[in-house]
Amino acid sequence: HAKRSGRGRVVVYTREMEEAAKRVTRIEQALRRAVSAGEVEPHFQPIVDLNSRRTIGFETLARWTDRDLGMVPPSVFIPIAEERGIIGPLSQLVLRKATEAARSWPKDLFLSFNLSPSQLVDQNTGLHILAILERTGFDPHRLEIEITETGLMTDPASAEKIVEDLRRVGIRVSLDDFGTGQSSLGRLREFHFDKLKIDRAFVSSILDDRPSEHIIRAILAMCEGLGMDVVAEGIEEEAQADRLVQFGCAGGQGYLFGKPVDADATLGYLRDSYRGALYAKAI
Ligand code: C2E
Ligand code: MG
Ligand code: MG
Ligand code: MG
Repeated sequence: HAKRSGRGRVVVYTREMEEAAKRVTRIEQALRRAVSAGEVEPHFQPIVDLNSRRTIGFETLARWTDRDLGMVPPSVFIPIAEERGIIGPLSQLVLRKATEAARSWPKDLFLSFNLSPSQLVDQNTGLHILAILERTGFDPHRLEIEITETGLMTDPASAEKIVEDLRRVGIRVSLDDFGTGQSSLGRLREFHFDKLKIDRAFVSSILDDRPSEHIIRAILAMCEGLGMDVVAEGIEEEAQADRLVQFGCAGGQGYLFGKPVDADATLGYLRDSYRGALYAKAI
């Protein structure tokens, strides 16, 4: 009987896996269709100077709503796009739409864009990005790409070549989600990053957790020494922003300053914040 129940468990497990695989395939098919139809949209989240609270740029975040599946979050569709070889076309679609939108923003604002690990082993990635910038007329000096440590690990030599090609035309490179995953300080010796983004995990515990505070201060000191800009991610409360300013952190991003919104709402946000700045000056 033990054997039977054992086998029973195996059967249930297999069925669950089958269901999961079916769901992934369903998402994959819907995503392929959406990408061909141009239905994945860039949203934009402000990145601010923590001292002045002025917006200095925006991070592009992909958004997809399927008519049957509903809103599918990037934490679900990006990994599937990577595994099933859709990330290239998806990424090109989102970058094209994002740079078309960002073209009409004030020229001092940068646009950042996430690259997936598999894009850093594909030597065509750089060419595709440059072709899109040329086509949309977006200045490469205003573009930043965000990569994670995981993205550098699969094939460091390939990643380095892509990154160097992008940097040569003025694109800046930031290290995303720093402090999570397979962090290695050695990576910071081998690669030059223009900017480091401190993962939300440290920011969310900065007020009630001594270790987080010390880790953030150490990261800030290291960035200063290495000449890297810093952005703290996931700031939700005023008190977190205050503490980060106290520690000397210059850049911030999070719901406190703005959630990711579509291109139209971003234009509205920019109009309001520029108007706000003028009023502040007049007073
Ligand atoms: P990420 O690059 O680290 O982006 C930051 C994530 O944190 C975004 O989640 C953003 O909405 C969320 N976030 C920002 N501020 C706050 C906050 O104050 N509190 C909380 N709880 N969350 C905050 P999102 O949009 O769901 O994206 C998740 C991840 O998916 C991104 O993490 C990025 O790795 C990936 N991703 C999104 N769009 C793209 C894309 O176009 N291409 C690639 N390759 N990856 C993308
Ligand atoms: Mg990012
Ligand atoms: Mg991040
Ligand atoms: Mg993240």
